[in-house]
Amino acid sequence: MDFINYDNFLETEESPGLTNQIMYHNITHDDMLNGDGLRVVLWVAGCEHHCEGCHNPCTWDPNGGAPFTEWEEAEFWEWLDKPWTQGATFSGGDPLHPTNRDYVGKMMKRIKETRPGKDIWCYTGYELIVDEGEFKLQNAKGETFTYPALKYIDVLVDGRFDIKVRAADIAAKKKVIWRGSSNQRLIDVQTSLKEGKIIVKEEN
Ligand code: SF4
Repeated sequence: MDFINYDNFLETEESPGLTNQIMYHNITHDDMLNGDGLRVVLWVAGCEHHCEGCHNPCTWDPNGGAPFTEWEEAEFWEWLDKPWTQGATFSGGDPLHPTNRDYVGKMMKRIKETRPGKDIWCYTGYELIVDEGEFKLQNAKGETFTYPALKYIDVLVDGRFDIKVRAADIAAKKKVIWRGSSNQRLIDVQTSLKEGKIIVKEEN
């Protein structure tokens, strides 16, 4: 069991205004559909994007689901630590919803500090942009925020699900892996941060 003491973490720059509790809907493991390899996936509650055709509208309410307590978190770490688990995926809902982003960010920090061999994928309905040299997440209204924990993410699957793009993808028999519609990007975050521009991961 791997329980987390967040006391020190609370004081780090990555977690201003940290709330020490999120709600979640599921933890799946040996998951092959939400990133490379076999993964443990945390499905959090809370999403403000409300995309038409969303498969998980039950996850929109940030107060829905169940509390993600130390017991559920222990389950997450236990599955992440399996030698065959390539990494962790944060999905939902939206892991970067205001109620989730700090808590998820500290989990990402914990992964990179204690389990550097595991990679991190994160799904979000926000779009990653570069604004005057700074990486920001942007919603459909054009509102932006910075996310210090971006530096821990290996692949960010960004943008809202677009049902019309999805229909066109299907009509064109387009291969779209790991996301719902082809407008959503698989962003190689580490290379993007190094190069100062958004680099999309090659699909294989
Ligand atoms: S971002 Fe994802 S969870 Fe949120 S509404 Fe869109 S498809 Fe649904």
